[in-house]
Amino acid sequence: MKKWIEDLLELQTIDMRIRNMKMRLEMLPKEKVSLEAEMKKEEGEIKSKSENTKKTELAIKRAESSIAEVNETIKKIQANSAMVKKNNEYQAMMSEIAQNKAKISDFETEEITLLDELEKAKTELKAFEKQYHAKVQTIKENLSELQQMEGEVREEINRLIAERAHKENGIPQDIIRLYSRLLKTTGDPLVKVNNDICGNCHLKLTPQTLTESRKGSVITCDNCQHLLYME
Ligand SMILES: [Zn+2]
Repeated sequence: MKKWIEDLLELQTIDMRIRNMKMRLEMLPKEKVSLEAEMKKEEGEIKSKSENTKKTELAIKRAESSIAEVNETIKKIQANSAMVKKNNEYQAMMSEIAQNKAKISDFETEEITLLDELEKAKTELKAFEKQYHAKVQTIKENLSELQQMEGEVREEINRLIAERAHKENGIPQDIIRLYSRLLKTTGDPLVKVNNDICGNCHLKLTPQTLTESRKGSVITCDNCQHLLYME
């Protein structure tokens, strides 16, 4: 194999690695955004669950203070009962007490329902909290790993760029110019000829191109212009 082919294949190996590293680097912000969204979702869920618990606790307090208020009203009515002389007034007072007692009963029923709800909400919150801490921990770890990876990838790219500059120096300028132009497109710039077919576009090569390639000349595909070599 000609020296230019060997050298260019080595340069290409470095460049393909740089290409992969850059692609990886481009994907990292997306991964970060998705992890942060996951974190927000978890935080939102725990917030809504804990607010739910607080709301129920408040409703219970309201029901309790309503019961206390109605009890006060009943006490006042009873305190005034000594002054009631007439039978119809007495009946009216008794009916008022009965109405207030019915109110208390309603509030008590409401309170029992709320206490059940509170217990359920608290159990749910506790169960969620357990998972939540583990999940948040994992997300945080992944985020810090991502950050570390970004640093490592950047370092690796810089190292490879220095390595490629050194390699590039030993290759003739005209070949490098051709190669550099192809490097900006997709696929490998320098491809192997397999069964008279171009390794990039997979079309059959002309006899003249094949002859030149067999000799180890600097030759490109008639169709896709990629550099060709034979083993
Ligand atoms: Zn081709």
